[in-house]
Amino acid sequence: MLCPRCNIDLIEGTSDEEEVNLCQKCSGALIKQKMLIPILKKVSGVMPDKVDENTFLPRLNDIGAVAACPDCKSQMEHYGYMGSNIVMIDGCNECNWIWVDARELVVMAKLYTQSNLNYERSRANRMAKVIDETYINNDSKESILEMILFDD
Ligand SMILES: [Zn+2]
Ligand SMILES: [Zn+2]
Repeated sequence: MLCPRCNIDLIEGTSDEEEVNLCQKCSGALIKQKMLIPILKKVSGVMPDKVDENTFLPRLNDIGAVAACPDCKSQMEHYGYMGSNIVMIDGCNECNWIWVDARELVVMAKLYTQSNLNYERSRANRMAKVIDETYINNDSKESILEMILFDD
């Protein structure tokens, strides 16, 4: 398959036994939809700069939709990752390929990290609320703490 940006052959490799195609010139990647989260986790793990809930992620300058899916040649859908317009990526609904440009993957990993932190915080807030209500309304706080602290 050819890089949709550079028109040269993509290098085929695997990540978690799934096919991943890389362009050696622009470092863009063609990956299967289901591989996106596992790959973002890997990228998050090696990112040098720390990201927290308050890190401002500026919108990446969108270099535009790719011409066509490198595999089936149909028009790919150009859309904002996680429903925001910070990173615009391209996906093929026919073959479930996603095309990500090199710098996009890093920003997506930051967005992914941020959404996980927000999730963890709201989970902690919910848990704190349950404990508060338990303290106020009855004396079953021991069992709630047991639930949190012990596995069984
Ligand atoms: Zn390329
Ligand atoms: Zn396709």
